[in-house]
Amino acid sequence: MSGGCLFCQIVEGAVPCDEVYSDDDFFAFRDINPQAPTHILIIPKKHIARINEAEAGDADLLGRMMLKANEIADSEGLSDDGFRYIINSGIDGGQSVYHIHLHICGGRQMMWPPG
Ligand code: AMP
Repeated sequence: MSGGCLFCQIVEGAVPCDEVYSDDDFFAFRDINPQAPTHILIIPKKHIARINEAEAGDADLLGRMMLKANEIADSEGLSDDGFRYIINSGIDGGQSVYHIHLHICGGRQMMWPPG
């Protein structure tokens, strides 16, 4: 837990959410302001503020987070038509919550380039 972190508070149950998945290392929940028919955030329970603050020792954790995201995408029925993963970092990246989170977005055709 990092003091004042919204997503740490969600993991602890202090802030309510629409939970999708939880285990010892990861937590997933539906985005409160969905940008697609399916929009889920998966986070490591370990507080890491930004993806570029991850260290070598986090490689296994983050790799497993991607595989867990694949499982969640599949369980949400997104595997066949596809989906998009997004990690925003910092001001220019549009990051608004400083706890690493992977957006899992699907259920509609995504556009490119992103806004
Ligand atoms: P980012 O802009 O990449 O940092 O993404 C943060 C995401 O967290 C946004 O898509 C928000 O809609 C979402 N969000 C913020 N507060 C909550 C909350 N209490 N429960 C669920 N999602 C949230």
